[in-house]
Amino acid sequence: MMRPWLVPVILLLLALPAAAAVEIAPEGTRPAVVNEVYWQDGTHFIAIDDILSPFGISGRWDSVRHTYSFTTPRGTAILSPGSQFVKVGGRFLPLGQRPRFIDNRLRVPEDFITRLLPDLLSTSVYYRNLAPRAALPVDEATTLDSLFALLLQKEQPQGGTGLRAVALDPGHGGLDNGSMAADGTREKDVALQVARHLERVLKMRLGIPVYLSRDEDYALNAQQRLEPAARPEVDAMISLHAQASLRAEPRGIALIVRPREEYDGLVIEAAQGNSLKLARHLGRSLEQAGFPVAGIYLAPLLPLGRGNLPTVLVEMGYLSNPEDHARLTDGAGQEALAQALFAGLNNFAEEQKERMR
Ligand SMILES: [Zn+2]
Repeated sequence: MMRPWLVPVILLLLALPAAAAVEIAPEGTRPAVVNEVYWQDGTHFIAIDDILSPFGISGRWDSVRHTYSFTTPRGTAILSPGSQFVKVGGRFLPLGQRPRFIDNRLRVPEDFITRLLPDLLSTSVYYRNLAPRAALPVDEATTLDSLFALLLQKEQPQGGTGLRAVALDPGHGGLDNGSMAADGTREKDVALQVARHLERVLKMRLGIPVYLSRDEDYALNAQQRLEPAARPEVDAMISLHAQASLRAEPRGIALIVRPREEYDGLVIEAAQGNSLKLARHLGRSLEQAGFPVAGIYLAPLLPLGRGNLPTVLVEMGYLSNPEDHARLTDGAGQEALAQALFAGLNNFAEEQKERMR
């Protein structure tokens, strides 16, 4: 499901002309006001001690290891100025920027509170930035800019070669579960499991490198999602998702491609592009393997990026439909799905080879 992920955090962005300050508290309690807020590199930094103290948590700085650790219901969380990730249990949760010492206190970027804290503490967090920068929307635009700078522009293959490498993007991850089934099955897990099956088939059958946008359960920003696809040798990208409906009836696989493609500055409609060709091959292989294919759709979705890299987002079925659910959660069903996707990728590559001869 492609909706933006939801976080149990109350985030009020009010353009008050106050000095930089934030309010933070466990939801339903009186918020603490933190006045020491630093604006650096396009984001607010707040001392980690000031963030944790309203929750009755005190962390510890290890001056030898250069790490800061604190106890959470999910295990000990560790952060460090040397790393852009918060490590908790076996997971690495990404921060927008690395923690840093400012005026002798370790401070973390604001997104630590908005994106990670509710999950780390398993609680709802009240957070309010009393003086959010007017520049915030500009920052969003900058993120988009950098994403769009990551043009998935590929040289036309010089004939004879099949797929050199494939990028796989298991949707969602981390706090972002994606769709959920009534039994708690999460889209992010299903997407990763099928990606691993497909990775194995591609490596075994073609012996080519396969790059996953994530190989564990963590969140990615839009740019991180597309980075594997931007590698020069990658000849196709498949993004894997699953949907859920309030009703049990909707079912089947949907294939989604970007509406327009760009070849060296030349914009063409999807109908003339390789993404649609790849989608058709995938659809055919899936149908031949007995999977219900609902159709091919055009949509300007962020995970599809832009450029001319053959890219298809596969909505693999509905977690809310009993048959789709069984197939998506069963190892054999996932393997069959991966085999069919492999066949489609391979047929697409063969057709490309033919055309180059
Ligand atoms: Zn999704």
